Parts: sequence; C-alpha cells; structure tokens
Amino acid sequence: MRPRVTHDIDRYELITEIAASHFQRKKVFVGSNGPCRYCGARGRKKFATKAHLIPEALGNNGIFCRDECDSCNQLFAKYDDAIAKVLRCFHTLGSIKGKRGIPRTEGEGVLIERRDSGETPNLTTHVDGYDHKDLLAFDPARKLFRMRTPLPNVRFRPRHAYKALAKIGIGLLPANELNHFSRLINWLLDPNDNEKFHVLEVSMRHSVVANPPRIVQCTLLRRVAPNDNCPYMLALITVGAIHFQIDLMTDRMDEHLKFCTMGEVNINWSIKLSGEPDSNQITIEYADRHLLNWAPNSLEDSPFSSFDTYFDARRNIAWMKFNAREAGPK
Ligand SMILES: [Zn+2]
Repeated sequence: MRPRVTHDIDRYELITEIAASHFQRKKVFVGSNGPCRYCGARGRKKFATKAHLIPEALGNNGIFCRDECDSCNQLFAKYDDAIAKVLRCFHTLGSIKGKRGIPRTEGEGVLIERRDSGETPNLTTHVDGYDHKDLLAFDPARKLFRMRTPLPNVRFRPRHAYKALAKIGIGLLPANELNHFSRLINWLLDPNDNEKFHVLEVSMRHSVVANPPRIVQCTLLRRVAPNDNCPYMLALITVGAIHFQIDLMTDRMDEHLKFCTMGEVNINWSIKLSGEPDSNQITIEYADRHLLNWAPNSLEDSPFSSFDTYFDARRNIAWMKFNAREAGPK
C-alpha cells in the first residue's frame, strides 16, 4: 500500500507516515516507551492500556502508541467520541467496525444498516416521511439516475472532533519536533478550554466509492522553505472512505504566516493499493473536498444532510456525493 500525493508536495516534505489495513494483520507501534508525549507521565504502571494512534471507533485496530499514558488515553476518548459521531454514516456505508461492530445510522425516519452475509455486502436503507419524488431523479437525456439518502442530524462537539485529529498528528511527530508544539499539547490536555478560535479548519474529503478497503493511515508533511506562506506541519489522516487534512498549530513556526487556509494548500490525495509488483493497482481517489470549521466548543449539527448515489447508465459507473447541511436557525 503506497499513498501518493499529487499537488503542492513541492512545498512540503514527507517526514513520517504510517498505515495499516485489514489486509495486513500485523500491529504497528509508534513512539518510544514513555514518558507520555502529551503529559510527561512516567512509570510502566501508567501505561497499562494499549493506546490507539487513530481511534478504535474509526476502525483502527492496527496502529498503536507506546508513549500515550492511560490518563491521556482516557481523556482523548472524549474527543474520539465526537469524531466517531461525524463519521458514523461513513462507517455504516463502508462496513467499518468500531468498538461495537459496524454502527447503524438511525434517526429522523432514516435507518441505514449493513446486513452483510459472509463476503456478500448488503446495505439496507429505510426512509420514512419523505416524498419519493424528492429522493429519486432520472435525467433521460444523460441516462443519469440519482438516489438521495437523507442523513439524521447527529449533533457533535466540533472542537473535540478537531482535538481528536490533532492528537493523532502529535502522536506521530518525531521526538525532535515535539518542542515546537507545546501549546497545542497543553490545549489538548484541557477538555474544557476557553481558548478563542474563530476558525479551526478541517479539510475533509471522501472517496467516490462508499466501501473502499479498510485503511487507516496518517502522514505528516513539513514545510520545505522556512518562510513560505503555508503552515509548518500538516497532518493527513485517512480512515476508510474519509480523508482529513489539518495544520498542526505550532508555538512559533507559523508567526510569519499571512492569512492562509487549508483550501489554499490543496493537497489532493489518493491511495494506491497493490499486492505483487506486477499485479493490478487499485487507486482510491479522495475527492469532493469540504472545508469545515471545527472551532465551536458547543453541540453543533452534523456536517452532512444527505448523500446522493449516481448511476450513469451510459458509462456504466456509479459514484457518491455528500451534501453539506445548510446552516439554519437552531
Ligand atoms: Zn499522558
């Protein structure tokens, strides 16, 4: 399995990367044995739990941290819950097992669940209280069929979801980089922080197919030119059908930055999977970028209100597209 970066990589260098998939059953560990890279705790007794680098609820059962202590692990579970809520529908669609098996997506008259039998995938969707004319559309000229599936609003705490992503990035940092991120680490350790952020930007993409191979992957990219107008360190995190990009806040390395968003950095992402060197490669493209602001520290609406499945009968292909939830009165 080899991830490939297709844009803007000339401004960044890859400093570390780790991946696991359900193909390889071996476990991968990052970090050295203590002290805790987040809170500094020492002593073997404080490291009794095997800490997941990427939350187990997101389908990671292959990548673990050696230097995340039990109390940090317990604290971060709060953040993991927030991001698991955002990703629940993607996990239903992609058959991704979390802590309690493949989650169902349920609420507001919608029930989406997997009833796979053996290797045969089976996705069942029930939708009540909607007019089918709003959900089904056919364009005869283009032979294009669209089926819309509404998604229940699962409210979540965006700031906690953001912290879950930042925690993964910190977990993967080489030890000699940690001293640039002490403020970010202290912020992670406070679940009730009062920091004022207008924007904590998350770039989120999904694969065009609902059920890509079950990959969990994290890459860190570091700015090449010290004074370039782009963030110092980017964390790119892939879990099954979803790919996230955030910049890791540094203590001082980004003080020169003029206004710069993840949208301007624009790193396209795809993952190539192959077995033997001359076997066919499968490319998973992560497209359809959504730029989200996960600064709010209150319960907010989930980012997507529905998804569309398109069938193009002329070209015999299908793809999916997620629709952002309109911001409205609470
Ligand atoms: Zn700790």
